[in-house]
Amino acid sequence: MQMLSKASSAMASFPCSRVRSGLCVWPGLRQLCIRKGLEYGLRLLSMPLKTLRGASRSLRVAEFCSVTNVSSSLQIELVPCLRDNYAYLLHDVDTGTVGVVDPSIAMPIIDALSRKNRNLNYILNTHHHHDHTGGNAELKARYGAKVIGSGIDKDRIPGIDIVLNDGDKWMFAGHEVHVIETPGHTRGHISFYFPSSAAIFTGDTLFSLSCGKLFEGTPEQMLSSLQRIVSLPDDTNIYCGHEYTLSNSKFALSIEPKNEALQSYAAHVTHLRNKGLPTVISIVCLS
Ligand SMILES: [Zn+2]
Repeated sequence: MQMLSKASSAMASFPCSRVRSGLCVWPGLRQLCIRKGLEYGLRLLSMPLKTLRGASRSLRVAEFCSVTNVSSSLQIELVPCLRDNYAYLLHDVDTGTVGVVDPSIAMPIIDALSRKNRNLNYILNTHHHHDHTGGNAELKARYGAKVIGSGIDKDRIPGIDIVLNDGDKWMFAGHEVHVIETPGHTRGHISFYFPSSAAIFTGDTLFSLSCGKLFEGTPEQMLSSLQRIVSLPDDTNIYCGHEYTLSNSKFALSIEPKNEALQSYAAHVTHLRNKGLPTVISIVCLS
């Protein structure tokens, strides 16, 4: 129940009733500990890690429900791209500054911006993979947005303008952004942490119930990256790069078929996906 109260506290900061009504938590998922997940992952190096405990809440894709944290002026909007990618639009309501995290392709982002008659100032890339940077060139050409990415990947991120490295603090319209190096999926992968909004964009490092495949890094690097993420405050909202939760839940159930909390979570995830709804965003708790 501790986790439930944490999640409820986080929920209270979201004024959007659709988000609030869609929030679901599974306190028993705390039984799925990161240690076990890493054991599975380290045994199956070609597979993503499958059992990280967490809770999840849903946004309605069709309504593009914006998530606003009342503790700051930052709005975060989920934008589905391609088959299972998620980009995120960031909007500072005070200044009108807009950013996008990991645009796979330009058109869904342009559509979302056009609906609200907004410009685009920044493109934030967690890593170089094309399904996270494929929209860079078109969006940069159309809006003049500045592209931000890891110094390690500066030669692999299209159109990069601003190079950031581990420990750097960058300001997005008055919101401090902490750059956290999270290698493992790729060697130059970074995550963007917005402490004042309790939000972190983890790209392909951490998903709901799994982590990313180890394309360029070692298990030790991924373990270290995950530990950095889960060491953040418990109410940190994790905005990940893909909708993998359903397949992850099936894998987790193959490992722990009698875990009732996981069964409930998997059933809910199945329900959401059958309706075409996303299963993110997640909260990771350690206790
Ligand atoms: Zn990737």
